[in-house]
Amino acid sequence: MADTQLTQIKVFCPCCGGERNHNVLAKVESPNPPFSLGYDRYYIVECAGCENTAFFHEFGPPWVLEYDPVTGEASKFASTSRYPACHQRQRLTFPLGSFFGNDYASDVYRIYDETYDALGNNLSTLCAYGSRTIIDIIVTHLADDRGSFPDKIKRLAASNVITTAQASSITAAFDAGSASAHRGWCPQEADVLILLDVAEMLINQFVINPARQQHTAEATTNLSARVPPRPKKPKSATSAPTSPSAPTTTDLT
Ligand SMILES: [Zn+2]
Repeated sequence: MADTQLTQIKVFCPCCGGERNHNVLAKVESPNPPFSLGYDRYYIVECAGCENTAFFHEFGPPWVLEYDPVTGEASKFASTSRYPACHQRQRLTFPLGSFFGNDYASDVYRIYDETYDALGNNLSTLCAYGSRTIIDIIVTHLADDRGSFPDKIKRLAASNVITTAQASSITAAFDAGSASAHRGWCPQEADVLILLDVAEMLINQFVINPARQQHTAEATTNLSARVPPRPKKPKSATSAPTSPSAPTTTDLT
């Protein structure tokens, strides 16, 4: 049954990056909730800040609800699902210019996007393997596809492309991702976030920052072309000027 009375609910907005009031555009209460005294509600909501639209499903038994003392509205729910799913961790922003003619950056972005989709859906193993894949792509891009992964890391550290501390972090994250894919290790969310930290460290350093530096270089070149040149100073006289205070013969007569 559709509820035409518009209200607001406070839920996470991935665009704003925090809890925001959302206008309820439509609300449907299922007549057959999964619990005999529970509830089963569906919302289409719009962020009151950025107007991002999402779909929410809330259901649960009544004993976990908290009620507003004035309106009687339930304010806390046992289970809430958001579509499209998202995690509260803020995604990196890729400069648009980083993709043009750059298959490497495009591949990193595509897998990064899918990895966050996995994170939002609590698919820890897929998220761990996505992070591992990102690490592998960037390391192989930097070190060339020669030898094993440890060989590539050694070459990058020896040439100071990465620090020794980064080499250790990257190796540990890569091995954890391999364990989730090949050795049956089920990472917890905290583990997955560590893998993402390492993947995002590499993305920032070797995908996003180079693109920003290139954009800044092009922008400053264009800026220099628009800035008026410094006016030329008048040429200095070749002979020493006569002192204005020095009396002349004419002045004395
Ligand atoms: Zn928003």
